[in-house]
Amino acid sequence: MAVSHTLGAVGEVVVLVKVVRTLLGDIPPEEMGITDCHEHLIRSGGPEIAESQDYLLNDVDKAVQEFNLFVQSGGKTVVAMDPIGCGRDVAAMLEVARRVSGHILLTTGFHRGELYDNRHHWVMTCSVDQVADMLIAEIEQGLDLHSYNGPIVERVPAKAGLIKAGTSYLKVTEFERRVLQAAARAQNATGAPVVTHTTGGTMALEQVETLREHGADVSKVVVGHMHRNPDPVYNRRLLDTGVNLGYDTCRFKYYSENFVVSLLLDLVKAGYQGQIVLGHDAGARGYQKAWGAGVGLDYLLTELVPRLRSEGMPEDAINDILVNNPARIFAIEDKSGDASADAVHSV
Ligand SMILES: [Zn+2]
Repeated sequence: MAVSHTLGAVGEVVVLVKVVRTLLGDIPPEEMGITDCHEHLIRSGGPEIAESQDYLLNDVDKAVQEFNLFVQSGGKTVVAMDPIGCGRDVAAMLEVARRVSGHILLTTGFHRGELYDNRHHWVMTCSVDQVADMLIAEIEQGLDLHSYNGPIVERVPAKAGLIKAGTSYLKVTEFERRVLQAAARAQNATGAPVVTHTTGGTMALEQVETLREHGADVSKVVVGHMHRNPDPVYNRRLLDTGVNLGYDTCRFKYYSENFVVSLLLDLVKAGYQGQIVLGHDAGARGYQKAWGAGVGLDYLLTELVPRLRSEGMPEDAINDILVNNPARIFAIEDKSGDASADAVHSV
């Protein structure tokens, strides 16, 4: 079990246990196993659905079926990336979590700004500290059953395991700047990782800069969707800041797969294998077998990873990318003092 030691207020040694905060309780990081670091299982509302009904993922049975495909192909943990205001459904996600044999982490935080009212949303009308406090409460006290859709906050024992922030294509709006600042403060207070959405893989360096400026430890930050900008120079510049990169829509939506495969092979050769994670981001019916699509959550492990292997990715790099890196990034120090990492809280 991963532990670290620090000096308490009166000089005694306090042992801080590192845990990964899943929906059904804290687990030791080494129990995470093969992890899909950007996923969607349930989305029951939110503005994306107005764009297309394909984004409506409102079926617990199908979510369980899809998760099982991932487990059958060797997967263990899924990081669910539906944030506040984008159809996050805590009750349905808890039901999925109870019915699958793997682990699910659920995020707090926000998506890119254009999915919110940029004048009247509480991200804009409250202070950044107040926004950060709302995120911290979801990580330390419990998720709001209503996902802060207001006006009633009703916390469940299940907690958020990470913080999401996002930016627009080629710009960072005021809403997004405030979210990045709040995410950095919440990370600083809780140790929880930040996982971001970039649009088209742009503004990634700006995300890292803003997060760092406001107190984030970038070694616990994953900049997401970087397969959408597979420029090797840009990706290496990012990795040199110490941040982790998520390649998480690897299903030939944006580019044919050879771009991301050769980028990943080059980055591993250059020594960055400790800073790379993968996801599938199957956030629509058209990407899930349970909804009748041709690819599903198993794609990562049945197609992408075998291809990486066949093109020469060393086994230890694959293991870092799928197992060791997520376990390091998503581990947080349990400050409650009472949580045994072996205990799975009932919810
Ligand atoms: Zn996503």
